[in-house]
Order: sequence, then C-alpha cells, then structure tokens
Amino acid sequence: MTTIFTGFALADSILADVAAAVQALGRAPVCVTLHDPANGPARAYLARQIDLARAAGITLRAESYADAPLDQLAELAADPGLDAVATLFPLPPGLTPALAASAIGPQKDVDGQHPLLAGPLLLGEGTPRPAATAMASLLCARAILGDLRGQNVTIIGASRLIGRPLSMLLTDAGATVTLCHIDTRDLPAHTRAADLVISAAGVAGLLGRDHIAQGGRVLDLAIIPKDGGLIGDADLADLMGHAAIVSHVPNGVGPVTAACLLNNIVAAARGGDAL
Ligand code: NAD
Repeated sequence: MTTIFTGFALADSILADVAAAVQALGRAPVCVTLHDPANGPARAYLARQIDLARAAGITLRAESYADAPLDQLAELAADPGLDAVATLFPLPPGLTPALAASAIGPQKDVDGQHPLLAGPLLLGEGTPRPAATAMASLLCARAILGDLRGQNVTIIGASRLIGRPLSMLLTDAGATVTLCHIDTRDLPAHTRAADLVISAAGVAGLLGRDHIAQGGRVLDLAIIPKDGGLIGDADLADLMGHAAIVSHVPNGVGPVTAACLLNNIVAAARGGDAL
C-alpha cells in the first residue's frame, strides 16, 4: 500500500495561525508580487495565492515586471505602504534572484534570499524568514517522519531556493542530510539509504523502484508541466505498491509552500520572526 501525502491539513493549520497573527497585528499586511503576465503557470499560481491571502486578511497585489525591473524593485522597497515584495519566476532579462533580493532588501524579502536572511541560517543561527518552499518541506518532513533527529534525509537538488536552505533547516532539526545534485555519482545509493527522499530536480521519472527502498518515503517538490497537467520527479506508477509514502504533485508540498509564504509576509509586517 502506498499512501499519497497531501499538504492540505498542514497548510490549514498554518493559515489559521497566519490569520490569528494578522488579527493581532490589527491591520492588513501588504505585499506586491511581480510576475510576467504572459506566463500562464505564474498567473494561475498568483491568482490562487491572492485568494488565499485575502482569506487570511493579507493584501497581495500582482504587478507586471517593468522594463527596468531593478528600478521598479527599488521603488517598491522604498514604499512605506508596503510590508513585503516578492518576485515570481520566470524573471525578466537583467534580473537574477541575487539582484532581486538585494534590491528588495532584508526587511521586505519574504523568500529568505537576501544574504542577511540566508547568512544566519548557514551559520546555524536560524533565520526569521526562510525560503517558503524549504520551510514547507521541513514541515512536511516532520509530518511524515515525526521527530527528525537522527533521521537520514536525502535531498536531490542544491538550488538557492530549495536544496541549500532546506539542508540547513533539516540539519538544525537534527537530521543527517545528504545533498545530491547533477554531479552526484550513484544517486540511487544515496536515495535508497534515506528514511526520506526530498526531490527537487525537475526531471520527470527520475525516481523509480531502483532509487527507493521498499517501504521508502518520497517528498516530491518538482513541478513539471505534462499533457495539460503537472507531474514531479517521482515515477508514480512505478512506485505504487513499493514506496510507503509518495507526495502528491502539486498538492503535497504546494499548499504548505503557499501558507509559509503568507506566514513570511505577516512576519515581515511584524518586523519579527515567522511563526
Ligand atoms: P534548479 O534548476 O535551480 O535546480 C535543480 C537542481 O537539481 C540543481 O541543483 C541540479 O544540480 C539538480 N539536478 C538536476 N537534474 C538532476 C539529476 N538528474 N540528478 C540529480 N540532481 C539533479 O531548480 P529549482 O528552482 O530548485 O526547482 C526544482 C524543481 O522544483 C522544479 O521542478 C520547480 O518547478 C520545482 N519548484 C517547486 C516549488 C514548490 O513549492 N513545490 C517551488 C519552487 C520550485
């Protein structure tokens, strides 16, 4: 029997805390999210995020990238009426995640990308606003494994948004972390030995029975468009009846990521820690 993990219950409990934090703040936090309106998946993601934000008492405004996105970000960062500024992929020409984070500044960065937010995490001092996907993955890992101390977690993907911050969050939670990437030799040796595999490579069908121990667990973060739907790194058909748990794509870590981002927006409005 393979259980398909969804993140809705976890997301609901975070959203309840977010709504309570907004109440306690006594005003609606305001976030502007820049995106490319020609990109369908980004548009759809943002529409869902705006609805969720509204339900939690947060004002989330969508704006298109301007021709000079760095000037646009500097203006938004200086706007006293805004608590947070976010940028959605795909980024426009001339903008990188590092440039965006430095233009937004640490006070209004809600995805843990500014060095003043990412640095303390690397140094074992935690961070008030970790990257939402990484934080969501930590919470899902806890929901699946319970106490993470001593658990072997293998991450596939070492990006600045997911694998790198997640490896630090898991380490701080007491897990033994293996961080794999494109140059990793013998990936199945690392994934088969894990209590939980967290995969964010963006390679459809990467993980089948040969990669996962009988009764193993997979948290699949990848979001890959296919035939009008979305799939992940896991070869679900191959893993059914073999793995104990595989997360749904996109409803595994996805709803939790959305909730963690809103939590970071409230934290930015409070000027303090998330949760
Ligand atoms: P990225 O391209 O920046 O990083 C991909 C990482 O995977 C790299 O470290 C690369 O070395 C590694 N990789 C690629 N192919 C591999 C292979 N065959 N074996 C081992 N490692 C391999 O991508 P990203 O921005 O980190 O996103 C990764 C995936 O996660 C994408 O599918 C993206 O859509 C998805 N994503 C999901 C969420 C979410 O909330 N669920 C958020 C952001 C991105």
